[in-house]
Amino acid sequence: MIASAAPPLPEIATEAIVVIDLVESTLTSNLFGWYAVGRHSLRDLRALIGAVGAGRGLRCLKNTGDGYLLTFHDPQSAEMAAVRSVEAMFDLLDRIADRNSVVSEERALNLRCSVHLGEVDVVADDREGPHVSLAFRLQEISRASLPAALNPIPPEQFPLLNYVLCSEEVAGILERWASPWQMTGIGLFKLKGFPGWREVFRLLPEERAIALGAAFPPGFLDELRSRVPLGDLVGRRVRLTRRDRGQAGLCPFHNEKTPSFYVVEDKGFFHCFGCGAHGDAIGFLMRADNLDFIEAVQRLAGEAGIEVPQQTPQERERAQRQKTC
Ligand code: ZN
Repeated sequence: MIASAAPPLPEIATEAIVVIDLVESTLTSNLFGWYAVGRHSLRDLRALIGAVGAGRGLRCLKNTGDGYLLTFHDPQSAEMAAVRSVEAMFDLLDRIADRNSVVSEERALNLRCSVHLGEVDVVADDREGPHVSLAFRLQEISRASLPAALNPIPPEQFPLLNYVLCSEEVAGILERWASPWQMTGIGLFKLKGFPGWREVFRLLPEERAIALGAAFPPGFLDELRSRVPLGDLVGRRVRLTRRDRGQAGLCPFHNEKTPSFYVVEDKGFFHCFGCGAHGDAIGFLMRADNLDFIEAVQRLAGEAGIEVPQQTPQERERAQRQKTC
């Protein structure tokens, strides 16, 4: 066989892998329940997965009937692919919650999501092989597996429905990017195909960010971010020069003599490799001018010349509810 005939090796580190499973909607059980919800609900789920993945590099590799295996790809940055995949999962859970609030209980969809990057690759048609073992083992972690873990959280703190788990590797990336999600170690587990104990993390959305984000109609914040070029906004406070795919300057959030602060205009974020500061236009104003979220939105809307929509009483109540539960 000639060398060129060999299939190209998969690029392990460039895709984040997400496994989504349906879990039963009773509070007493965490067993899989794909077959219980019916075809209509599964069609809804597929549509929602497609909607949250559009624009985030989603590829659906497999739907085996008892789970979805998705990958998220960012040609520039494997780490951003992991961030996008977590973003997509919380977006999905939000949409599922909205949907569940308008359908009967037996048609409710309840999910568990597990996110991985780099530790595994995906081999076609290899459902249980070593290449996918971490993905599939992580997915099987539930309240029932806690007794087998080292330093597990108390069982009542382990969620039964609609949660996101991630591996050590993904947790490390989220920490480096100062992501808006809370990470809680739920214990150390022995995972098939990996030596020793591996810590598994549960992710939670930053409640405050969610509550405040819900104060605006869908799409408003995206519209706002797209109106004011981030480079212009930052450029008024930081001297930026073109560098690689972005612009670089001295970080306004820590003391430094050589630039480690980057603005990546087309992705709409800034990142400092020195202090880890990271965020979008709203986050920049919050940090730079010491504003809260709403104030930063109002400031940015002023710069964009658009009106901040008034909240309806229902929206205020919804935001309040999300903040307190
Ligand atoms: Zn910095």
